[in-house]
Amino acid sequence: MKRAFLWILAIEVLVILLLPALLVRGLDLEPRPSGSESKSITSAVNVRVLVHSTGRIEEIPLEEYVLGVVAAEMPASFGMEALKAQAVAARTYVARRMTAFGGPGCSEHPGADICTDPSHAQAWMSREEMRKAWGVFNFERYYTRLEEAVSSTAGLVMTYNDQPVDPVYHSTSGGPTEDASEVWQGAVPYLKSVPCDYCRHSPYYSHVMEMSLEELGTRLKDRDVPVFLQSGKGRPEIAATSATGRVKALRLAKTVIRGQDIRSVLGLPSTRFTAEIRGRTVVFTLRGKGHGVGMCQYGADGMAKEGKSFRDILTYYYTGVKIRNMFEE
Ligand SMILES: [Zn+2]
Ligand SMILES: [Zn+2]
Repeated sequence: MKRAFLWILAIEVLVILLLPALLVRGLDLEPRPSGSESKSITSAVNVRVLVHSTGRIEEIPLEEYVLGVVAAEMPASFGMEALKAQAVAARTYVARRMTAFGGPGCSEHPGADICTDPSHAQAWMSREEMRKAWGVFNFERYYTRLEEAVSSTAGLVMTYNDQPVDPVYHSTSGGPTEDASEVWQGAVPYLKSVPCDYCRHSPYYSHVMEMSLEELGTRLKDRDVPVFLQSGKGRPEIAATSATGRVKALRLAKTVIRGQDIRSVLGLPSTRFTAEIRGRTVVFTLRGKGHGVGMCQYGADGMAKEGKSFRDILTYYYTGVKIRNMFEE
């Protein structure tokens, strides 16, 4: 999917760029909850998960798998309704792939429904990994919260036209979320841009990143991006932005680079940015983190803190979806 991009180093004045973005996350697998006597998470269905750390396919009860995804994909300290929304998204994601529900299984690993590689699945943590990440003290507290989020939404998935949706999400939209057609091929009826003012408390809402022109040149070279203009004639120019202000294309001399490609090559958190060159440094001023499509996770937390329910959150970020129990007709 990569395409060639060319970039020119303009060693000059101020330049303003902008870019949109997109992201996905990873997952991992895990053993079952044991110690907790609180409502144990039960489920009649197992997910066959290829755990990359062991290379083995493990059968994990659905709701237990969902808990491990929420642990890996969202801070456990987030509002309870946000955690519930994330649980429904995680369950929807795997429901689409499970062969038990007519899904295709994991495209990379025959015999598995899903794997723990973030690049083509969702992130997942085992109990041991949670303990390590959170510490013994926080572990009980956080695990109990996740159990509540998962068990209170057990079986719930989002559907559109009676099919489970593709529940993409991102860390922080930093303004309106993005329409899927601006980031990927084709429009998706439930992945429309919606205003988001709920993520202002995110550390990624507004941030600055600096990069020397040398580093910029190296990164472009490493990714086979030819660099012209050492002498600095052209300067970056935004060729196209999405309706929400994310950079879709950047022009450097005669070359047009996709906003997403710039984001990926330079490791920018988002394509919603401006940039200027100051001396030998490029200063990126960014808003948000992630591709901007679907649920804004910090926004979900913000909505939860305003008293909104997980249903409010999901139906806000995913236009027109229904929330249904996957085990009921
Ligand atoms: Zn994999
Ligand atoms: Zn947001």
